Formats: sequence, structure tokens, C-alpha cells
Amino acid sequence: QKIHSDDLEAIQRAFEEALHEGKPYEFDYRIVRPDGSIRHVSAKGQPTLDADGKAVRLFGTVLDITDRKQKEEELKRSEAQLREQAQQLEYDALHDGLTGLHNRALLMDRLHHAMLRTQQHGSQFAVLFLDLDRFKVVNDSVGHLVGDQLLVAIARRLETCTSPSDTVARLGGDEFVILLEDIEDINQAIATANRIQRELKSPLALAGRELFITASVGIALSDSGYKKPEELLRDADIAMYRAKALGKARYEVFDTIMHTKAVQLLQLETDLRRAIFRTQNPLDCPTSGQPTQQLHLHYQPIMALATQRIVGFEALVRWQHPSQGLVYPQQFIPMAEETGLIIPIDHWALWEACHQLCLWQTQFLNHPPLSISVNLSSKQFSQPDLISYIDRVLEETGINPSSLKLEITESAIMDDAETAINLLLQLKNRNIQICMDDFGIGYSSLNYLHRFPIDTLKIDRSFVNRLGRNSESAEIIQAIITLAHSLDMDVVAEGIEVHDQVAQLRVLQCEHGQGYFFSKPLNSEAAQALLIAEEPTLKLL
Ligand code: C2E
Ligand code: MG
Ligand code: MG
Repeated sequence: QKIHSDDLEAIQRAFEEALHEGKPYEFDYRIVRPDGSIRHVSAKGQPTLDADGKAVRLFGTVLDITDRKQKEEELKRSEAQLREQAQQLEYDALHDGLTGLHNRALLMDRLHHAMLRTQQHGSQFAVLFLDLDRFKVVNDSVGHLVGDQLLVAIARRLETCTSPSDTVARLGGDEFVILLEDIEDINQAIATANRIQRELKSPLALAGRELFITASVGIALSDSGYKKPEELLRDADIAMYRAKALGKARYEVFDTIMHTKAVQLLQLETDLRRAIFRTQNPLDCPTSGQPTQQLHLHYQPIMALATQRIVGFEALVRWQHPSQGLVYPQQFIPMAEETGLIIPIDHWALWEACHQLCLWQTQFLNHPPLSISVNLSSKQFSQPDLISYIDRVLEETGINPSSLKLEITESAIMDDAETAINLLLQLKNRNIQICMDDFGIGYSSLNYLHRFPIDTLKIDRSFVNRLGRNSESAEIIQAIITLAHSLDMDVVAEGIEVHDQVAQLRVLQCEHGQGYFFSKPLNSEAAQALLIAEEPTLKLL
């Protein structure tokens, strides 16, 4: 066995030093055994001195310390590993796994410190809450893998719009938050929001295609009122929702009116949940039902313009709020759609309206067959059990499917044309009628009209309203009617308020009309009174 060549020089030097200086020595080195294996040894000793006190030779022991060395190495390695794991855990705990941006925990911590600094030094900061517009649609169409790549790409762009001292975090999904610290005023936050919008404008090249994405941004500015970081985040979120409601791809700065509105909306949502719970629908789960029922249907007659007789009714939901009185659909349908509460509402309305029609049809046997029009939210189109629910309603109430008319809007069709066409065909197979509501104000794409099995076009009341005052309206109505007739559809004019409009619509060959001129939407007793008034036999009595 020999000394490892790498250690040879050092050992010789150490021995020479010990001899020269006459001092004890101790050092470790490696030896190579004949089979090539390496051992660690520790040499320890001292020189022996001659009569003159001069070191003449070294005397000592050599101990094999290989095992100890190996254990030390192992310990060092596992310590390093532990350190690495701890660092990774700490990183993971504070970063978003997909984009590498900061996560909610780190953001909240930074927000907390920013608030402390504001309290101590009066510095200002802003929170930008960013949510991608229509990300779900993009994600569903390109697949989740590309959706993820898109989020990563957006994260990189957000970083280019901010400075390294800002905190860019992803809260999850397509929600990002940026914390801008030590800003002069709100304009600085607005400038960042504008920079982000600009940066997002250029398309992203992903998976061989170009994707365009926009974002809605809500901004909340630190001021004395805030006590907790969550409050700032909440207000930036509210402002972001406002930006979405105002048309997306824009920013909004939070103000206290928004807060009041948000609180009111939340209260309304809670109240609506309670109202739905108390609404009796024998086809859904049984609830407490009457007499605390708050949701009701009103019925507005639809008239044949030629005979001015009732051909049917449109069922319109009304909410008798315990403290606010009668609440109209515009005040709660958008919220119900957003929260999904529209599903049980529409289910109930469908059952209630069909049930009512059944009563009228048996009561007014001599009346030409009445139809009932029920509004169907576009949200229903994504419900897999819609058709089976409608089947149950038809079965339970026993009405002829052809006397049920479902009113849908263009957005229901445009959001997901393939699902819509499939659904409408299933309805048509049952002889249920389909009416395109509010026609003319949406996409009004002629492209889909002939592809979808639509029976009726309902001209939006904004056109009817301008009839007489504006010749363009008459021309648009004329065009819609011609189009409908050529596609074998009939037409209902909505929102007729004066006789003149009736006269003009008759000239334009519009079959049906609805509006305050004939009657406002009425409760079932009042609507029934209109039917009684039309009964020839009863009139004679
Ligand atoms: P819509 O389906 O277009 O209903 C017609 C709306 O116009 C009704 O408002 C009706 O009261 C109003 N209207 C009728 N005639 C006139 C008129 O001559 N002049 C004016 N200015 N307005 C007239 P309402 O009842 O407030 O309903 C608003 C919207 O809420 C409906 O528009 C419909 O989209 C939605 N909605 C109502 N009930 C339901 C429901 O049960 N389910 C769903 N999903 N949506 C509903
Ligand atoms: Mg309608
Ligand atoms: Mg309408």
C-alpha cells in the first residue's frame, strides 16, 4: 500500500516541518491499497530528540479512520440535502407552481408589510387585481395544456410591465394580483394597468396558433380606511368585476359606491336563495312552499294583431321581496345567472307556467288553443338534465308540447352553437316551439338563423318603440319580418305601447304583438279576467 499521490507532497511537507521544528504532528491522508481501494488514515506523533535537543526522527501511530470519514461525508451530504429540501419547501410555500410567480401567501405577507409601512411613514401603495377575459372559453377550446402555457406566458408579460420591487402574484386560475409599493398617486397604478393592456394586445403564439387575450383589472389604493390586507384585495376584486361588467378589457378604480353596491348585491343574493328555498316546485326537492312564497309569475298577453285576440301569454318572473317590495327581473336575473340561481328559478317558472296554462286550457275550451312562452336563460344550455326536466314538466302538467314556447336569446346560441343546435333539435322533436327573444339587438347573425330550428322571431322593443318617430326603425322591422317569413318563421313585436304602432305593424304583416298597449304583465287572476272578457258566451251573460 502506498500514499495517495495527491496527498504525498503535503505529507512530506508536514513530516519535514515536524522534524525541522521539533514539534508534535497530526494530519489525515489517504493510502491506496494493493487492490486499488482507498483508506483514510490519521497520523499522529512527535519527533524524538537527541542529546542536543534536535529532532532526529519521528515516532507515532497511524490509525485507519475510513469508517469515521465515510460517516462524516454521509452526514454532510444529508445535511445538504435537507437544506435543499427546506429551501424548496419554503420556495413552494411562497410561489405558484405553474408560473413561478409569488402566491397568495407571499402576497398577503407583502401586503401586510406594505400596510405597516403606510401606517408608519405614510407611503402609498396600490393593488391591481387582474382576471383574464373569457379564459374559460380559450382553455376549453385549446385544451388545458396550452391553457397552462398561456398562463405562464401571461405571467412573463406581467413581469415585463412591472419593476422588480413590485410583487406579481398568481392567486390561482386566471387571477393575478400586482402590488405596487411606494407610488406617488393613483396615476402610477393606472399607468401600469394601461401598460398591461397594451402588452397583452400582441397575440401569443402557442401550440402553432395565435391566441388573443384581454384582461379586466380592478385597482384599489391604500388609504387610511383599510385594516386588513384582505380588505384591499376584496375591493380590488370588486373593481375588477365592475371592469368586467362595463365591457371587459379595461380597468376600474375602486370607490366606496362600488362597495355599497357589492354589499347590496350579496344581500340580494342571500335573499334570493331564501326566496328560492321557499318556492314550491313539486318537481324539484320539496320545500316549505306557500304561504311564504316570494317568487311569482306574471303573464303578459300576446295578441294576434289581425284579430286583436289573445293567442298566448309570456310568463315573467316577479319577486315579492319581504322588505323591498316588488323586485323586477332586471334587478336580479343578471345576478341569478352569475350565481347559477337562475337554474332553479327557470325550472320553477317552467313548471308553474305550464301548470297555469293547463288550468286555462281546460277552463277556456272554446278559446283557440293558447300557448305559453317561457324565458330560458342561456345558462340552461349547459345543463345536461334540461331536456329530461322539460319532459317531466310536460308529463306532469299534461299540456300539448306544441303549446309551449321557449324564449331564448342569441347569446345562448352564440356561446356554444353545437350544444345549442343539438338541444334545440331535441326540443323540436318534441314539437316544442322556439322563439328568438330580443331579436335585433344582439349578434343578429343571419348565418345561424337558417341552421337553427326557430319558429318565431321576437323583435326587440327598442325598434318597436321608435316606430313612427323614426323611419329607419320601420325599415329594420320590415327587413326582419321579410327575413322571418322567408325562413318560415312568424313574428312577435315586443313593447307595443300605442295604437299607431299596432297599425304600422299590421301593414308590415307582423302576426303578433305584445306590450303595454294591450296589457302590462298581470298576475294569474287578472290575466284570467282578460280571457274571461274574450269568452263570447260569458260576454252574452
Ligand atoms: P323579455 O323576455 O324580453 O320580456 C319582456 C319585458 O318587456 C318584460 O320585462 C315586460 O314587462 C316588458 N314589457 C312588455 N311590454 C312592454 C312595453 O310595452 N313597454 C315596455 N317598456 N316594456 C314592456 P320584465 O318582466 O321586467 O322582464 C325583463 C327580462 O327579464 C325579460 O325580458 C327576460 O329576459 C327576463 N326574465 C323575466 N322572467 C324570466 C324568467 O322566468 N326566466 C328567465 N331566464 N328570464 C326572465
Ligand atoms: Mg321574453
Ligand atoms: Mg324580449
